[in-house]
Amino acid sequence: MGVTVLLVEDEHSIGVLVRTYLERDGHTVIWVRSGEAALAELTRHPIRMVVLDIGLPGIDGFEVLRTVRTRSAVPVIVLTARDEEADRVVGLELGADDYVPKPFSPRELVARVKAVLRRSEGTAQQKADMVTLGDVVLSRSAREATVAGEPVELTQKEFDLLACFLEHPGVVLTRDVLLERVWGLEFPEGTRTVDQHVAQLRSKLGRAGLFETVRGLGYKMVRP
Ligand code: CA
Repeated sequence: MGVTVLLVEDEHSIGVLVRTYLERDGHTVIWVRSGEAALAELTRHPIRMVVLDIGLPGIDGFEVLRTVRTRSAVPVIVLTARDEEADRVVGLELGADDYVPKPFSPRELVARVKAVLRRSEGTAQQKADMVTLGDVVLSRSAREATVAGEPVELTQKEFDLLACFLEHPGVVLTRDVLLERVWGLEFPEGTRTVDQHVAQLRSKLGRAGLFETVRGLGYKMVRP
């Protein structure tokens, strides 16, 4: 069974090769060229595996891994051009599930992806897939949300916005941060869109109190 793989690789030829092999193995590949883009994509898709290059423009792969681990238990395979013990140790300490030094054969990488996916199956993975707050439950892989066991129809953006809130309970999320994470945009006029979507979520979920308005800043999801 194929899964959605987030591939973070700035080198074009390697990216093309890895994507081709993973797709051939039945996976859906979302390929980004920077760590910033990787973090943005992570909440937008039901990502089940991250293949992460360490040497990236902007924030490096270690920084991406550190941030990913504060949000999710998704399996991560780290790629690095430097076959150094130190990098391997740092990667594994930060929570990488496996490590593939460059140059690697794409077949080997595909085999590692398969092995890590097999390992990560089971309850741990299911738990990572589900986020809950009170009686609101969201499944990323199924892209389903329920309130008190009842399914709630959400648009794609509403789902992404709810996921973003549920992943950061008790944290103030500014309108700009929400815009950037959910819509991938940065423009001041767009903040009205955030307000409209939060209003929709409050109404559709019937749990208006979960979303606290933080005056002048944005919103915070609070425990019921
Ligand atoms: Ca690179």
